Amino acid sequence: MSALLPLLEARIAAEGPMSVAEYMTWCLLHPQHGYYTTRDPLGQKGDFTTAPEISQMFGELLGLALAQSWLDQGRPERIVLAELGPGRGTLMADALRAMKGVPGLLDAAELHLVEASPALRAAQATRLSDYGPSWHDSLAELPEAPLFLLANEFFDALPVRQFLRDGDGWRERVVGWHEGQLSFGLTDIAAQAALEHRLADTAQGDMVETCAPAEAIVQEVGRRIAAQGGVALIVDYGGWGSLGDTLQAVRAHEKTAPLAAPGDADLTAHVDFRALAQAAAPAAHAPLTAQGVFLERLGITERARALAARLNGTALESHVAAHRRLTHPGEMGSLFKVLALHAPDAPPPPGLDT
Ligand code: SAH
Repeated sequence: MSALLPLLEARIAAEGPMSVAEYMTWCLLHPQHGYYTTRDPLGQKGDFTTAPEISQMFGELLGLALAQSWLDQGRPERIVLAELGPGRGTLMADALRAMKGVPGLLDAAELHLVEASPALRAAQATRLSDYGPSWHDSLAELPEAPLFLLANEFFDALPVRQFLRDGDGWRERVVGWHEGQLSFGLTDIAAQAALEHRLADTAQGDMVETCAPAEAIVQEVGRRIAAQGGVALIVDYGGWGSLGDTLQAVRAHEKTAPLAAPGDADLTAHVDFRALAQAAAPAAHAPLTAQGVFLERLGITERARALAARLNGTALESHVAAHRRLTHPGEMGSLFKVLALHAPDAPPPPGLDT
C-alpha cells in the first residue's frame, strides 16, 4: 500500500481538502515518499520513457540547435548551459557530445542542472561527470550570463490547480477523504482574478488548469534571455491554452487513476504553452512547433541514416522504430511540441515554424 496514503488522510483530516496542486506536490516530491524523491522512474523497467531515452538523436539535435543559436548570437565567450529536470542526464550527455563538434562552444559553457530528486541527481552525476556540472534547487540560483536552456518533459511534472467554470465564477477541484479513500470534490463558487481572461473563451462546465510554478520559472528564463541573450527549448505535451482535465497518472507504462497510487505513480498535466509564452515576455518566442516537424527540419532523417549504416538485425529495427516514434504524428510527433524562447533582437533557433 502507498506509504503516503495515511499521511494524506491525516493532513486532510487536520486541514480539510487540498488543491490538486498540493496533492501533486505531495505525491511527486514528498521528502520521504515522493515519486521522484525515491526513484529513477525512467526507461523500460520504470514507469515511463522519454524522447532522450528512446534515441540519442533527440539530444544530439537539440544540442546542435543550441549550438546554432550560440553561433547566431556571435559566440558569447561565457554561457550558462542549463537543463531543467534532466532525468538520467541522457539528453544533456547526447547534446554535449554533438556540441563538441562546434569549436569553442564547450570552452564557453558552464553546465548547470536544476533537479529536485536526489536519486536522479546521482544518475546525472555519473552520466555527466566529464563536464563538471553544478546542481541547483531552482533556476534563480544560476549565475547571470547568456542562458542556453533545455527542458524536456519537465513542465508537465509541475503542480496544476484545476478550476471548473460555474456561471461567471469558478469552483476549484480539490482532493478530500470520503468513505475511507481519497476522493475529488469541488469548492464553492468564487471569482478568480487569474482566470478573468478565461471567461471570454470558456463555457459553463469547462475545466481549466493553471500552473503558477511553471509561469514563475519561465518568467525568470524570459527575463534572463531578454537581458543577456541565449535561448530556451521547452519540449512537452500540451497545447496553446488550457482546456479540460488533463491530470493523468502512469505506472509501469499504463495509465492509472490519479488518486489510486499516491507517490507510486507518475502524475502529470498537459502544458499550457500560451501561458508559458506570455510569462516569458519580454523574451520573444517562435510559433509553437510540433516535435516531429522540428526534428525533421533539424535533419533527423539524415542522422538516422548515418547511424543505420552501422547497425543490423534487431538493433537496426529498434533504431528505425525509435525514429518513427519520435517523429510520426500518430506517436510522439504531434502530441509533443517545442516552445523556443529567444532574445527579441536575435533570430529564433533553427527548426521552428515561422
Ligand atoms: N528530462 C528528462 C526527465 C523527465 S522526468 C527526460 O526527458 O528523460 C521529470 C524530471 O523533472 C525529473 O528529473 C524530475 O526529478 C524533475 N523534477 C520534477 N519536478 C521538479 C521540480 N519541482 N524541480 C526540479 N526538478 C523537478
